[in-house]
Amino acid sequence: MNETFSIAVFHGDGIGPEIMAPTLSILERVAKASDSYDLEFTDAPAGAAHYAQTGESLPASSLQVARDADAILLSAMGLPDVRYEDGTEISPQIDLRKELTLFAGIRPVTVKAGQDSPLKIPEGREIDFVLVRESTEGLFHTQGRGEVTRDEARETLLITREISEKLFRFTFDLARSRKAAGRGPGRVTCVDKANVFRAFAFFREIFDAEAARHPDLIADHAYVDATALWMVQKPWDFDVLVTENMFGDILSDLGAGLMGGLGLAPSADIGLDHAVFQPCHGSAPDIAGKGLANPFAMILSAALMLDWLGTKHDNEPIRNDGRRLRQAVEEVIARRTTLTRDLGGTASTESAAHAVLDALFVS
Ligand code: ATP
Ligand code: MG
Repeated sequence: MNETFSIAVFHGDGIGPEIMAPTLSILERVAKASDSYDLEFTDAPAGAAHYAQTGESLPASSLQVARDADAILLSAMGLPDVRYEDGTEISPQIDLRKELTLFAGIRPVTVKAGQDSPLKIPEGREIDFVLVRESTEGLFHTQGRGEVTRDEARETLLITREISEKLFRFTFDLARSRKAAGRGPGRVTCVDKANVFRAFAFFREIFDAEAARHPDLIADHAYVDATALWMVQKPWDFDVLVTENMFGDILSDLGAGLMGGLGLAPSADIGLDHAVFQPCHGSAPDIAGKGLANPFAMILSAALMLDWLGTKHDNEPIRNDGRRLRQAVEEVIARRTTLTRDLGGTASTESAAHAVLDALFVS
């Protein structure tokens, strides 16, 4: 039986369309080679260039395409010189998080043997952990609406039981599926600042209550400052970390740094019904239109999408293709012959993406 999954595609701004095009070609090839599922792509216009042309950054019709899809693939959006009238940045990806209640931001951090990292990784160890960032509340609750007078500025840190419960349930399930795949011991670490803030003590209490429901998994806690230290000193010990929005924002850039840069960092924003998959990097207008963009973070985000679709719909072939796609990228990185400039190579976007296709289908 051939299951068809509909994918909403946001091509985005800057290098967005350049990294999306080869990613879609790869997905098309992978789906075509499979006799157990099909992928159907629908374009959803949005972003800064779209705003400049039409006055809308996320048209209702595009939001509807996203709502109707089984999954959403998004490259980068936003341009430095196109802004809303009040001066704020155009970021429909943040609107999507709110509109679709995508409370769990997934940032996998992996450094395989042979891959460059600013860290000296001990012989025989690899970095392979996932940071789960709450993405709808926390210190971003009053985003753009903080109270500022001449003498004072205030923002609100909001932690709700409802979102926290969903977030932690999702995180324990994620740790369980990593354990089943042999990628971790099944340990979830709640990253907070419960020693100073009551809101984080509340967060931790909800975490502990959820942990009690998963006796097959290990649960522990860490303060965010110590976590930043350990991410540099011993990131190979982490499995799954879960944290508040702002802490997650900061730690996920640190995680991207461990991977040797933004060009390799994929992400997913997941809710109960919807999920957006996109690279961690922005639209890189400085290199747009030159064929220099690294497509790997986009391709790895597409691999995460296949993982998620496979798990959600209990479709092993699509999950397996997610794994194969990730391995193909890892193989190309380890070979070092077709890397883009940001990774020290001279390859174009197109030839780097083509090398991934070769790794999938030729070797
Ligand atoms: P945003 O606010 O949207 O996150 P940003 O200001 O953080 O954007 P990016 O667009 O992520 O900036 O770019 C940061 C730097 O990394 C730029 O020099 C850019 O060229 C580079 N960069 C980002 N993504 C890639 C990529 N895929 N390939 C190569 N270089 C990239
Ligand atoms: Mg950025």
